[in-house]
Amino acid sequence: MRALILVTTAAVTSMAHAADPHSYAETDKFVVRHVALDLGTDFEAHRLAGTAELTVEQLDPAADRLVLDTRDLEISAVHLIEMSGRARVLAFKLAEPDPVLGSKLTIEFPHCCAATTQMRIRIAYRTSNEASALQWLEPVQTYGAKPYLYSQGQAIHTRSWIPLQDTPSVRVTYDARIRTPPDLVAVMSASRVDGALPAGEHAFTMKQPIPPYLIALAVGDLRFQALDNRTGVWTEPSRLQTAAREFEDLPRMLEAGEEMAGPYRWDRYDLLVMPRAFAFGGMENPRLSFISPSVIAGDRSLVAVIVHELAHSWSGNLVTNATWDDFWLNEGFTTYLEHRLIEKLYGERRAEMEGAIAYEELLRTIRDLTDEGRPGDTALQLKLAGRSPDEGISDVAYQKGRWFVSFLEERFGRPAFDAFLRAYFDAHAFQSIDTETFRAWLLEYLERPGAPAMTAEEIDAWIYRPGLPATMPKVATGVFAPVDKVAVDWQSGRIATDALPAKDWIPMEWVRFLDEQPADLEHEKLAELRATYGLGADGNAEIALSWLELVIRTGYEPAYPDLERFLLDTGRWRLVESLFSELSRTESGRALGERIYAKAKPGYHASIRQAVERLLYPEPGRATAQ
Ligand SMILES: [Zn+2]
Repeated sequence: MRALILVTTAAVTSMAHAADPHSYAETDKFVVRHVALDLGTDFEAHRLAGTAELTVEQLDPAADRLVLDTRDLEISAVHLIEMSGRARVLAFKLAEPDPVLGSKLTIEFPHCCAATTQMRIRIAYRTSNEASALQWLEPVQTYGAKPYLYSQGQAIHTRSWIPLQDTPSVRVTYDARIRTPPDLVAVMSASRVDGALPAGEHAFTMKQPIPPYLIALAVGDLRFQALDNRTGVWTEPSRLQTAAREFEDLPRMLEAGEEMAGPYRWDRYDLLVMPRAFAFGGMENPRLSFISPSVIAGDRSLVAVIVHELAHSWSGNLVTNATWDDFWLNEGFTTYLEHRLIEKLYGERRAEMEGAIAYEELLRTIRDLTDEGRPGDTALQLKLAGRSPDEGISDVAYQKGRWFVSFLEERFGRPAFDAFLRAYFDAHAFQSIDTETFRAWLLEYLERPGAPAMTAEEIDAWIYRPGLPATMPKVATGVFAPVDKVAVDWQSGRIATDALPAKDWIPMEWVRFLDEQPADLEHEKLAELRATYGLGADGNAEIALSWLELVIRTGYEPAYPDLERFLLDTGRWRLVESLFSELSRTESGRALGERIYAKAKPGYHASIRQAVERLLYPEPGRATAQ
């Protein structure tokens, strides 16, 4: 009876999801439900070693092999743990690696065991010193004097430190025991298990089922400061006070999130403020978002990243894209929620400014992708089979996704759309869904009495077609009109550099002012601007980015040392990629980029190196941006 029910569920599941093109997992045969990790950290060899014990549910009684995803793992043994606790050796085969997917691990089951519906498989292994999920930092790359390790699972990197079904269509609970040098602290996207543990041992448990890419670990010289009874900040000791002050609004943000999207279902929400080499603005690891220190501006002006990661507690972590082709479901809804939360917490003007800047970036991305011969990547639903899912990370998922959700809001009207959002999160909580599931659910919802008129064609134009459709909402671009006028007046000399109304500007107005400057701006004006307002590599990272982009655009050599220092100081993907992208537009820029990259490369995450190398050394035949 039980088996029959399971088989039925499997049939439904496999109909609901097209197979994930980025996983070898055969989820119609077996599904991993729980992962128990027991790992030691070796900071000398840059390896994790130990065991992963998977609790596996058998859905197809005839299945006699379990297929898992791995990348660069050295597997020493696989055991079936019997009810009695006895370990029985299982045969396994590790296939030759595929450059995108890694190595398929096939575990054979002896005939006797196939009737069991749940089994425990223990895999003994160690990671490669080049595991794509793990970045090992030297003390000099941190804010202290101790080494640091962090993992980044999204999109398909968890398989490089844990052998499992590495597809977001599968959700697992997990627990972990992590051994570290005694002076370091481990944290995970899970709750800490208190109790008497030997020095250097740390235990965790995650009771809510999550997709494997959200299993996360960081190890370093870490301290904690509570903000209230369910939020707090982890970071290195020298940064703790600054970070706690910057993120003081966190309890208020969490409450605002709950008012909009429903109860927060992960108990705690803490931030881990990372060393500079961290590759991302933020990563929404559940219960513990990993945050770039570049978000600390000193004036809380860049907290949009925190709001974004927090919003993932609903879209992404609670309701998850089933495959990376459906990435927009995670990021589009999250960017929409981010926008709404910024509006609620910091006012409509600031939300409109962030929206207007993001919109122009989206237009640029759509143009660039089209020019590169990738118009298909400007549709919301992607077709990434055979390619790295990292290629799907663009403004399209985030900003076109956001505007699609805004289009829905416009049709529904805000109160009705808020009810829709709550219903969406409730109906799919702790599930992984694909674009078709969302589309079908939306169409069904639209049949409810009082729902707005919307055709399937209008929806499909957003989801399946390239570019922006005719139903694109009107963007409040006028919000920058005063700054734009100042920019023109300053260029023409009608306003002197020291008479700019800059003291009234919020950082986004600075960004806009700098972005509006042309490539042939006189170097004299740049020198004045730099001297008067201290523009350089420090301070607000977004202003620094726009300034340094302008430096590259105008070929203003006196500021090149600042550009180099900035690129050596940060390892954040968006900042690094934006600047190298600007450098790669001209021959001289490319030469400068190559020189800086040679120095900066060791500090960058492997995926960023790939992205930068794609820009600096484009493949023959692939059109480059002019
Ligand atoms: Zn996100």
